[in-house]
Amino acid sequence: MPGKRPTAADIESFRTILVQMRGMITGDISDLERDAFGIDGEKAGVDTTADSGSDSHYQEFSLELLQLDENSLRAIDEALDRIETGEFGRCQTCKEWIMKGRLRTVPHARNCIACQRALEQEAS
Ligand SMILES: [Zn+2]
Repeated sequence: MPGKRPTAADIESFRTILVQMRGMITGDISDLERDAFGIDGEKAGVDTTADSGSDSHYQEFSLELLQLDENSLRAIDEALDRIETGEFGRCQTCKEWIMKGRLRTVPHARNCIACQRALEQEAS
């Protein structure tokens, strides 16, 4: 089930999150920004009010899911590149739009859930 192309407002929110994620990995972020990012959860995330369906409650990006390593950094840089090219939110495998709920959890996702599962199965 494909998602929809993210709106410009969504993309701006994701860009902010991605830049902040990047800062956390590279250490290029101040404690103040860290607080603004909302490590404890209040402010991070994307407005879900325009959303219907998939998840009814506010789902925020969780830092616990972010691995602070070079792979994540590369994925974040790629996602930022995709924002520039207008491809952000598109699955790099099947080219469908990734569900917004997934992007909220993993803004730097390269693939939709179906493709990611298929890739993981191939790898195992
Ligand atoms: Zn896909």
